[in-house]
Amino acid sequence: MSTPLIRLRDIRRIYGEGESEVRALDGVSLDINAGEFVAIVGQSGSGKSTLMNLLGCLDTPTSGEYLIRGENVGLLGHDELAATRRRTFGFIFQRYNLLGTATAGENVEVPAIYAGMPQSARRQRAGDLLERLGLGDRLDRKPGQLSGGQQQRVAVARALMNDPDVILADEPTGALDSQTSKDMIGLLRDLHANGRTIILITHDPVVAQAADRIITIADGQISDDTGTREQTLRPATTEPAVTRSDASLASQVWESIRSAFRSLKANIFRTILTLLGVIIGVAAVVGMLAIGEGSRQDVLARFEALGSNLVFVRPGAPGTRMRGSAIATLTLEDAVALADLDNIIAAVPSRSGQATVRIGANDYRTSIEGVSQDWPLAMGRNVLYGSFFTQKDMDQRAAVAILGTTVADNLFDDRKSAVGQYILIGGTPFEVAGVVAPLGASSFGQDQDDIVVVPVTTGMMRIFGQNYLTSISIAVEDTDIVDQTEEVARQLLLQRHGTEDFQLRNTASLLESIDETQASFTLLLGSVAAISLLVGGIGVMNIMLVSVSERTREIGVRMATGARRSDIMIQFITEALVVGGLGGLIGVAVGMLASLIATSSGMNAVITPNPAILAFTSALLTGLVFGYMPARKAARMDPVRALTSE
Ligand code: ADP
Ligand code: MG
Repeated sequence: MSTPLIRLRDIRRIYGEGESEVRALDGVSLDINAGEFVAIVGQSGSGKSTLMNLLGCLDTPTSGEYLIRGENVGLLGHDELAATRRRTFGFIFQRYNLLGTATAGENVEVPAIYAGMPQSARRQRAGDLLERLGLGDRLDRKPGQLSGGQQQRVAVARALMNDPDVILADEPTGALDSQTSKDMIGLLRDLHANGRTIILITHDPVVAQAADRIITIADGQISDDTGTREQTLRPATTEPAVTRSDASLASQVWESIRSAFRSLKANIFRTILTLLGVIIGVAAVVGMLAIGEGSRQDVLARFEALGSNLVFVRPGAPGTRMRGSAIATLTLEDAVALADLDNIIAAVPSRSGQATVRIGANDYRTSIEGVSQDWPLAMGRNVLYGSFFTQKDMDQRAAVAILGTTVADNLFDDRKSAVGQYILIGGTPFEVAGVVAPLGASSFGQDQDDIVVVPVTTGMMRIFGQNYLTSISIAVEDTDIVDQTEEVARQLLLQRHGTEDFQLRNTASLLESIDETQASFTLLLGSVAAISLLVGGIGVMNIMLVSVSERTREIGVRMATGARRSDIMIQFITEALVVGGLGGLIGVAVGMLASLIATSSGMNAVITPNPAILAFTSALLTGLVFGYMPARKAARMDPVRALTSE
């Protein structure tokens, strides 16, 4: 006789150990030939399901040998077992075990996905099978919308999808009424007539009568076997109707994405909450970085408006942080000497302080700037009304003042009328010679028009009572050699003072240090946002773990229909990636929207592509990293346990 399709040799399956040891199968030897219709009967608890799980390669025996077409199953690895399940067996379960979120058609397609059948062929074949089983018009129904008998027929169609040699049916009529039971048995007979080997497990002797051979088991042992009826034997004739290649990664990922969307849709509220975590994280990253970048550009722009041609001299040795006004090292003569150097347009001495300005009963406290006649030139400021003071005013310590527009507006009804009027500064009358054109707020938010400008000579004598400067601003002609000019100025002051009791800074180097400060500010904002992304990721992991334990049965069904561990892994990682990616996309959009809103409400937020790409990639990575553990958990599940879980 030829090699039997299935050969069991002294198979034992023992659960537990010691006291609680259960010998579910205790020395079963059995041959089943291709084309047989075998019923395995026995009372509940006799070991039927255990036998079926072993036959279907869902479980491995504790001892004994199992050969399929002469090949020892015990020597196969996980993937080879999955391939054997996929190619040789079609399962029909008592409780149908359909995927609740997929349509009838999609359920039938599942085994072919793992067999690598192209989508169109798959759809066609699933449709044909359901049509033949009288469910042609129920293709798009979910299992919940079908009767028990219909669901079981969908399960039969699924079992036939990969055109297996053997149909394993465990109590297929157990949940059906007597009429649908009869139909189901008829269906199995038809399949048998078409050349398939049928192994039917039942506790019902009447149902077992449909089979050609009845094997009875009791307490894990075969107690009776009616034997093979010679006339029913025939070689397995069915030609493989399916391309039996493995699924390509691309089509598998595509399927996983579709199934991910299905299961996300099935739990829409939970999905939204999980997504929200990722969205908030990503939006925070995008928004925060946009605001950081905006503020950086703002500050830089304001400093650039100052001109890049200024060198500032402040009193105090380099590195000292004392207030410049308290250090008495810079003098008017220093400024005069500096002005004579090459490549210098002007060197403006400056002494400033706060004072109250009064006209009539009006009091106004403001900043008084004592400077030289070169101030408008060096600072790039124009006089709006009247005129600026002159060298002569400087020399004569004239009591003249130029008002900023804020001061003029506060003291006079109209800016223009201020010219020629007298104001009191610290008790001394000053004639208003002009009003300087407005400049707006400085980079530090200071109102640059809230000033009164006086000759520094007059100021030192009448207002400040000090003969030292708070700073000298040098305007450089050729900015390309600003560093050299700065060095020459330093040498000159060093020579004059005999010691380095002053500091020089040019606007270019100031800009650099501001840029650095702003960059670290942006980094800080970004890391705060990154933490919220991390929290979102933990949410993804949480929900994936819940999802895996909720869908244990689904995982079991997928494994029974031939999914390898890697298939299950890919599926769950894909789901996590879909959550991460979707959350990432929406988050980027929300972050950009928030930036736009911030911009329209006066804040400057600049959207650059990098943060968006960074945040989106992080969201994807988050999905990958936090989805890995749940996916691994799913992939390592024991198929039998998964199938029998509640
Ligand atoms: P049947 O399908 O004929 O009702 P089973 O094969 O399900 O019987 O079970 C056979 C015996 O093995 C029973 O005594 C059952 O309690 C035991 N059994 C089945 N599965 C397990 C398991 N996972 N752990 C421990 N005992 C089990
Ligand atoms: Mg059972």
